[in-house]
Amino acid sequence: AKSEGKRQYRFFSPEMNGRARARLMLESNVRKAVSEKELRLYYQPQIYLDSGRLRGFEALMRWQQPQAGLIQPSLFIPILEETGLIHAIGPWLHESAAHQFRQWRSQHHETFVMSLNVSALQFGSAKLIDELQRVLELTGIDEPWLEIEVTESALIDNVEFAQQQLQQLRDLGVRIAIDDFGTGYSSLAYLRELPIDTVKIDRSFTASMFESNKDAVIVQTIVELGRRLQMEVVAEGVETEAQLQWLRELGCDIAQGYWFSRPQPPEEFPFPYGPFRLP
Ligand code: C2E
Ligand code: CA
Ligand code: CA
Ligand code: CA
Repeated sequence: AKSEGKRQYRFFSPEMNGRARARLMLESNVRKAVSEKELRLYYQPQIYLDSGRLRGFEALMRWQQPQAGLIQPSLFIPILEETGLIHAIGPWLHESAAHQFRQWRSQHHETFVMSLNVSALQFGSAKLIDELQRVLELTGIDEPWLEIEVTESALIDNVEFAQQQLQQLRDLGVRIAIDDFGTGYSSLAYLRELPIDTVKIDRSFTASMFESNKDAVIVQTIVELGRRLQMEVVAEGVETEAQLQWLRELGCDIAQGYWFSRPQPPEEFPFPYGPFRLP
C-alpha cells in the first residue's frame, strides 16, 4: 500500500541507500587507489611572520580519482585507516615527500622544513621509527628538515609510549609538532613531559578569533605559551589580511593558510619560494 511505501521510504531512503553504496564503492576504489598509485601529495607553505620567508611545507594527501576527480582526505583517510591500508602507503608517502624536499632544497638557498601528518594509528605503529629513519638515510641531507604533525589525542592515549616514541624521533633529528592544538584533551602537562618543538593553533580558532572574544583569548594564550615554553607557534587557516596582521602583532611565529597559498601540487610552486611581502 501507499502508506507502507512511504514508511519504507523513510527507512531506506534513496539517499541513504546511495550513501551506503557510495561508501562501499569508495572502499573498493580506495584499495585500487593505493595499488594503482592514484594518491598524491599536495603542499602548503608555512611562512615566518617576522620576515615573510619560507619556514616549510605541510604535505597533504589527495586522491586523484580517474572518474570523480580530486578527492579530499576527509573522505578517504578514514577508509585507509579502517582497512589498515594507511600502513601500506607510508613508505610511498614518506619517499615522495623526501624526494620533493631534496629537489626543492637544491633550488632554495635556505633550509626549510617538510611536515608530514601522522595519525594516531600511524603514531602507534612500531614501524614508524624505522620507516622515517630509512627515509632520512635515503635523502642523506644533514639538516633537521623533517617534521611530523601529531594530534594531542594521539599522545594522550599513552603518554609513556608517546614519550619514548617522540624521544627516538628527536634522536633521529625529526621535529615534533602538535597538530590542531586546543581541540583535543588539552592537558597542558604533556607539553612539559614530551619533547615538542612546534604547536599548531587549530584553524577553528583562527577562523573565529574576530567574532569570538574567547577564541581571540585562546589564540593569544597559545602564542604566549609557545613563547614561554620556547616552542614555535604556527597559526593554521590564515585567510585574511586582518588575521595575518593581528597574528603578527601578537608575535605569532609562523602562519599557514589560503592567504599565502592553498595546498597545491608541487609543480605549481616557483622555487626559490618567497619571501612574501607582509601587510
Ligand atoms: P590538518 O592536518 O589539520 O590540515 C589542515 C587542513 O586545513 C588541510 O585540509 C588544508 O587544506 C586546510 N587548510 C589550510 N589552510 C586553510 C585555510 O586558510 N582555510 C581553510 N578553510 N582550510 C585551510 P585537507 O588537506 O583537506 O586535510 C584534512 C586533514 O586530513 C588534515 O588536517 C589531516 O588531519 C588529514 N591528512 C591530510 N593529509 C594527510 C596525510 O598524509 N596523512 C595523514 N595521516 N593525515 C592527513
Ligand atoms: Ca596537519
Ligand atoms: Ca591542523
Ligand atoms: Ca585538522
